[in-house]
Amino acid sequence: MKYTLLTLCFILAILFSQAQELYMPKEIKKAYTEGYRSNTGLPGKHYFVNKSKYNINVSFDPLTAKLKGWEEITYFNNSNDTLQSLLIKLYQNLYMKGAVRYTTIDSNDVTDGVRVKIIKLNQKPYAESLKARGTNMTVKLPSALLPKDSIKIELSWELHIPKKTTIRMGKYDETSYFIGYWYPQIAVYDDISGWYFQTYNGQHELFNEYADYRVSIDVPKNYIVWATGVLQNPEEVLNDNILKKYKQALESDEAIPVISEDDLKSRNLTKGTSWRYKANYVNDFSFALSDHYLWDATSIISEEGSNSRIIINSAYKANSTNFKHVAAITHKLMQEFPNFIGRSYPYPSMSIFNGGGAMEYPMMVNQGEEPDYKGAMFTTSHEVVHSFFPFYVGNNQEKHAWLDEGITTMIPMEFQ
Ligand SMILES: [Zn+2]
Repeated sequence: MKYTLLTLCFILAILFSQAQELYMPKEIKKAYTEGYRSNTGLPGKHYFVNKSKYNINVSFDPLTAKLKGWEEITYFNNSNDTLQSLLIKLYQNLYMKGAVRYTTIDSNDVTDGVRVKIIKLNQKPYAESLKARGTNMTVKLPSALLPKDSIKIELSWELHIPKKTTIRMGKYDETSYFIGYWYPQIAVYDDISGWYFQTYNGQHELFNEYADYRVSIDVPKNYIVWATGVLQNPEEVLNDNILKKYKQALESDEAIPVISEDDLKSRNLTKGTSWRYKANYVNDFSFALSDHYLWDATSIISEEGSNSRIIINSAYKANSTNFKHVAAITHKLMQEFPNFIGRSYPYPSMSIFNGGGAMEYPMMVNQGEEPDYKGAMFTTSHEVVHSFFPFYVGNNQEKHAWLDEGITTMIPMEFQ
């Protein structure tokens, strides 16, 4: 009995001492002791978020699935660290022969990876050789990037979008694609990991840095492009009768069939082929295209008392049974955000594309067919709530998927 009591006291002493200081991983502890984070939950006095600005011109050929791009990235080092190199993510190297994958891909989709070339660095030709390790490519800088300074990097690349494998993106029928993870992208540099070296293995979702995007997307005539952000040149790309309905949708709380079955029969949807999109302060940019999808659009006042409206697009196959409800579901959801999230939807657009599976991207969703209205309601609301978690709050959805997947599962239940 005496020994039992002593043992009990010993165990309690251990438990009590542990309760005084819970275990904290050393990199997180360091972020607190060095003043990047604070125990109040507010940012510490040295907290920083690095940022990029992307100017991208991309062309995509749906017949060959070949994508060719040029981009100029301006990268802002807001940290207190001097950077000797940049880390660039080449996510499509997932499909490269010999790549480490935690998922299977169709053997027809094995590629040589992303063929990338750095043209200039700070306006000067770049001569160093480039070698990617998995989906990471380190770029040595000829001179260090100092704290609070910025650097410009100009590069070109080519790749093939997978035709048979659809891991959150890819080809969904002969002429319909959802294009994600498609451009050389500066990795996250933060107070926890420094450069974020985790390689993409196909299993997990991705953790990306905030950036502004100006993207011009070239596709063949009669293809419609939906993308992250706001379409800048509807007058140049849409045929007059489609443009008229698009403009109506920008003012309408009811869903407007911007492209109807009759429009599809006419085979006369577009007059221009370069689609320009703009998005500010988002963690990624994706786009989708098709030459035979129906397109519903509606809009909603972005905040009470404001004049600007959020455009909501849904693009879907003519034989879809439940996608015709998706624009209205999203409109209703956005109406309810102030009540159950505490603020309105924080971006100017949302486009939901009838691809496959269910995957969130900033201002975009790639979503498969649901068997009934309830399923369409659940999946749409789950994916759209991801706009807040992880995108708006910026949590690492690769390491801590439970944070955003948990909350985006619970919140839509309340909505439903
Ligand atoms: Zn989710």
